[in-house]
Amino acid sequence: MSQLDLLWEYQTADTEADMLALSIKQSPKRQKLLKLRDYIKDQQDGLRTIESEIMAMLDRMDALKDAISLAEDQLKLLQKRVQEEPPTDSQEIAEFISEADRLTATLADFDQEVRHVRKSASDRDRRQRDAKLRAIKSKEEFDELRVEYDLEYKEKSQLLEQLRKKAEEKKQGIDPAYLAKYTAIKEHCTPPMAKLVDGQCGGCNMSFPSSVLHKIRAGQQIECETCGRLILG
Ligand SMILES: [Zn+2]
Repeated sequence: MSQLDLLWEYQTADTEADMLALSIKQSPKRQKLLKLRDYIKDQQDGLRTIESEIMAMLDRMDALKDAISLAEDQLKLLQKRVQEEPPTDSQEIAEFISEADRLTATLADFDQEVRHVRKSASDRDRRQRDAKLRAIKSKEEFDELRVEYDLEYKEKSQLLEQLRKKAEEKKQGIDPAYLAKYTAIKEHCTPPMAKLVDGQCGGCNMSFPSSVLHKIRAGQQIECETCGRLILG
């Protein structure tokens, strides 16, 4: 068997192993696992955002409670002053009324904000619950699929190991220079060898001039000028 024939046999085994490696990489289970992983990560990011929003709301509620109790104290103080020292002229009455109105309006604003914050907080609580449920469900799905995938991966990896070994054995008797050439071509063109088909390159269908055909048939090492493959005559 010529060097090129041996190299061709090696290529057959090498390609078979490569195809399996590709199918492992492109396994639908693996793709789905990657998608689920990204989805779970998004859910976790969303949950973190909601949590920090809820914390900010709790802080705001505390500040509002303090502000409300301060305004209530001021209003009580004002009422006490009115009872103890009733205003004597219309100017003083007007001032008391205006101060009481201001405090009442402030309290009404705070009250409105408290209601608004409560509503937003309960919205976020609900969103947080939903997101947690979704995350748990996705994690369960992920774990189940992971078990299936691990099994599939183990089986295919064992098979791949056998195929790689078989390909390695096919290297026996091949001149290292040919193998180096094969590897170099494989960098940019797979598979790196093509058969001669009706005077054309079996890889890219380019026709060879008769002088080149002659060399190919004589078993010389010829590479296709178009695709770069090594041609087996
Ligand atoms: Zn070609």
